[in-house]
Amino acid sequence: MRGFSIGRIAGIRIRIDWSWLIIFLLVAWTLAVGYFPALFPTFSTAVNWVLGIVSSFLLFASVLAHELAHSFVARSQGLPVESITLFIFGGVSEIEEEPRTAGDEFRMAFVGPLTSLGLAGIFWLIFLATGPNASPLAAVVQYLAVINLALGLFNLVPGFPLDGGRVLRAILWAITDNLRRATRIASYVGQGFAFFLIFVGVALIFGGAFISGIWLAFIGWFLNNAASASYRELVVRQSLEGVPVRRLMATDVDRVPPSLTVQQVIDQYILSGRQHAYPVQTDGELVGLICLHDVRSVPEDARTTTTVAEAMTPYDRLVTSTPDEDLASAVDKLGRGGYEQLPVLDAPHHLAGLLRRRDVINYLQVQSDLEGTGSRGGEGEQ
Ligand SMILES: [Zn+2]
Repeated sequence: MRGFSIGRIAGIRIRIDWSWLIIFLLVAWTLAVGYFPALFPTFSTAVNWVLGIVSSFLLFASVLAHELAHSFVARSQGLPVESITLFIFGGVSEIEEEPRTAGDEFRMAFVGPLTSLGLAGIFWLIFLATGPNASPLAAVVQYLAVINLALGLFNLVPGFPLDGGRVLRAILWAITDNLRRATRIASYVGQGFAFFLIFVGVALIFGGAFISGIWLAFIGWFLNNAASASYRELVVRQSLEGVPVRRLMATDVDRVPPSLTVQQVIDQYILSGRQHAYPVQTDGELVGLICLHDVRSVPEDARTTTTVAEAMTPYDRLVTSTPDEDLASAVDKLGRGGYEQLPVLDAPHHLAGLLRRRDVINYLQVQSDLEGTGSRGGEGEQ
């Protein structure tokens, strides 16, 4: 997701995806031109916009509080949390690892909606305390009470990957002791709910409620994608867990010396099409990696004068793996950096091989082919 970072809370980076701005403006606009003018006909347009924007900020803070609750519980269970991103459909906490037990997952998932419901209660109490006369404060806190209630309830729907779906998965996981089956069922429920939203959305569109209909159908479409993607992700993760990198790494890789020019590397190595990237070695020591991308960034007329040493990614900046690393974690590195390969080191500066993205994809393909013939119709494939 593209966006920008607005700082850190307790070490967790808070990021805003550009799509969040749509929601921010939509909420501010709806409140400023609809909700507040209806309540306070005497207020000026400017005042209504200020109230709308303040409410939008407080909605932002509410969603953030929901995500921080997930993140803090995750961290208390020893799961590292990289960042929280707010985007068009709410927030997402980037928790680096999956929870280890059903109980952990249950607590981590449940605390989010609980926070939203708690906030709804707090805003409602403030609303009650404002007394019988309509005031701007009352209008803002009433809106926030309702929206937090909606957030809490929506997230409790038991369809994966919503929080409620994670709660359901945790319960099924505890009962069946089978994470994969639990995820599959929770994802089916999630997809069922998604199709329900799409159906209601389409019905609304034909009923004349065009904007709400589109919006609901859009959320349904997103949930459906998320549900099937999270299940696939789990299947991939499980096929990779417990497999050491050495099983898949390529060891017969060509290496190049740092003194060659970029043009020589192109002519003698890259045009052969054998590898995307070439480890750069001098006296058996790995000093860097040169890939197609590095080569392309050297202007054509400079390729005969620029050396590999100048164009390569130097050793210190390489993201590497080890032969004993778990494939699941190595593939995370590939994915996060968008790399085609990782150099695998068995000692500092000593290359054991390359872990290439395409070999991982082949491996997963073979795994799924084997599974397809081996356990057709069965559920107990673990
Ligand atoms: Zn949540």
